Amino acid sequence: MDAGEVRFIADSMLGRLATWLRILGYDTLYFRDAQDGRLVALARREGRILLTRDTQLLMRRRLCPMLFVRHDRVWEQLRQVTGELGLSMGPRLGSRCLRCNRSLAPLAKARAAGRVPEYIFRRHDVFFHCEGCGRVFWGGTHLTHMEETVRALCG
Ligand SMILES: [Zn+2]
Repeated sequence: MDAGEVRFIADSMLGRLATWLRILGYDTLYFRDAQDGRLVALARREGRILLTRDTQLLMRRRLCPMLFVRHDRVWEQLRQVTGELGLSMGPRLGSRCLRCNRSLAPLAKARAAGRVPEYIFRRHDVFFHCEGCGRVFWGGTHLTHMEETVRALCG
């Protein structure tokens, strides 16, 4: 399944899972305290799969696409979701802002000047930024590390 097709909204118990889905590049909404009704309404309106650990919420599964997450540990949760939906783990890794869920846009090196530490600027040529929060990201070790972590735990 293409990452551009599937989008999520996670319930309040699934914050870590939401972050990891964003790391993998999947559009995932998360609110620390949203009413169940609001989650369902957003899932319906935006065509998102509602991820939930809440059996109460599960009773509304006819109202919107829903996936009941059976596990407590985030790695098992991630394995379940990617497995059941047949999601790929690698191609869009790091393409999304972890804080605000927006897709990152390429940033010309010259425009990254002054927005990242000097040693980072000197050492890297590929930069991205988030148009939501303004953070600048760069290719390199943190991505490699993420990829290794994902592979080790879910591969
Ligand atoms: Zn952002």
